[in-house]
Amino acid sequence: MQTLHHHVAGRHVPGTSGRFGPIFDPATGEERARCPYANAADVDAAVAAAKAAFPAWAAETPLRRARVMFRFKALIEQHMDELGRLVAQEHGKTLADAKGSVGRGLEVVEFACGIPHLMKGEYSESVGTGIDSFSLRQPLGVAVGITPFNFPAMVPMWMFVMAIACGNTFVLKPSEKDPSCPLRLAELLEAAGAPPGVLNVVNGDKVAVEALLAHPDVAAVSFVGSTPIAESIYRTAAAAGKRVQALGGAKNHLVVLPDADLEQATDALIGAAYGSAGERCMAVSVAVAVGDAGDRLVAALRPRVEGLKIGPWSDPQAEMGPLVTRAHLERVRGYIETGVAEGARLVVDGRGLKLQGYEAGYFIGGCLFDQVRTEMRIYREEIFGPVLSVVRAADYETALAMVNAHEFGNGTAIFTRDGDAARDFATRVQIGMVGVNVPIPVPVAYHTFGGWKRSLFGDMGVHGPEGVRFYTKLKTVSSRWPTGIRKGADFVIPRG
Ligand code: NAD
Repeated sequence: MQTLHHHVAGRHVPGTSGRFGPIFDPATGEERARCPYANAADVDAAVAAAKAAFPAWAAETPLRRARVMFRFKALIEQHMDELGRLVAQEHGKTLADAKGSVGRGLEVVEFACGIPHLMKGEYSESVGTGIDSFSLRQPLGVAVGITPFNFPAMVPMWMFVMAIACGNTFVLKPSEKDPSCPLRLAELLEAAGAPPGVLNVVNGDKVAVEALLAHPDVAAVSFVGSTPIAESIYRTAAAAGKRVQALGGAKNHLVVLPDADLEQATDALIGAAYGSAGERCMAVSVAVAVGDAGDRLVAALRPRVEGLKIGPWSDPQAEMGPLVTRAHLERVRGYIETGVAEGARLVVDGRGLKLQGYEAGYFIGGCLFDQVRTEMRIYREEIFGPVLSVVRAADYETALAMVNAHEFGNGTAIFTRDGDAARDFATRVQIGMVGVNVPIPVPVAYHTFGGWKRSLFGDMGVHGPEGVRFYTKLKTVSSRWPTGIRKGADFVIPRG
């Protein structure tokens, strides 16, 4: 069995802790590799490597940093099959979906190729007599990324690509469940010309995370994961004086108005609820059926959920794969039992799914609940599995109030042909990312991704313009070149 490594200062290092965790093939349940879990000394070595690499990398011209990104882009394209496979084998999602997720990370690299333009400041001539003022953006130092299992390529790329393009150096702590793709990305970035130490990867669990948060040489922390951990990371890192953005969980509602094209809404719900087995922070887990849309919608969804093609990542026909671990499978099954006990109507029960040859895999079929009410746990909590809850709302205002009352605020969508209702929804909904007839409104790399409420702790989202702001400090210079004509001290506050 393969034993993985950390990646520090351009080298594979085994780590010193002697602690390891298993990495499974979710389709078969077999352990496919061992992942070393870093201790404080391993973290220290990675931060020291990043700190040592920082001055030279920060002094590199933005154009040369962009050229590294251009070469990184070419290498990712060249290695797309390999990277997709690494994601799929450890996560369990289908190869096409895995490659799609690497592709969304690649788009951040493409955006970062424009870093010389993105880091441009502002200039004002004559802010006072003979005085000009200009602003510039400078990197922070060593930035850290702590990432979840569900997007082992894309989410790390949201972070390290932007941070490094801006001139920072980086320590990534990927999910211990599927770290092989991020480890490979570190090798490719170095092959593209990033000096050793610019991107380091330490593997592990909360021991590694706590050491990173407490480290005095870490300037900024980006986190993506579940809400309780996001909140605690935000508090700890902010209390230690670090810049921090911590993105958390979600419960994304798709509102179906009675006038919506039902076929389109059904297609949208099937892809958004069951793609990647629901293990997406932008997955739709609640369908809010307004007025008389409910019965028609459930009738249209039912055969589609029953007919989902489920299989291992290597099956090109599969529409969704297994869940990531046995523990997560048990958790999702537990939610189905809870939903039934709470009185929701289980229209499609995927718990009986059996796949020949994959009996020990972490598979569950698509599940569909109807008559879900807002006080139920299956409505309030993030399940993160292939489970869609249909909630009925008497009218549009009730649906909007429901979305706004939920503690999470990551994504939402409305399906309607009524432009006025759609516009009202986009204006009044208290959610960070909104789709109008678009079920998963993930912003592209040159916009910023981020939720509201308990889906994001901190002020700035990831990538796009806010990504540049997060990973840079603003400096404003006021400049005068006196010739000796003006003499004497100024005791009065100067005014433009
Ligand atoms: P998780 O919170 O369990 O783990 C995320 C990271 O935190 C991992 O690197 C993990 O090792 C580390 N971690 C876990 N427990 C910790 C602890 N007690 N102390 C310190 N660090 C700890 O999340 P996950 O299960 O890997 O990912 C799924 C979650 O991520 C879902 O809630 C999903 O909604 C969320 N997510 C959110 C977004 C977003 O953009 N908002 C994107 C992807 C995933």
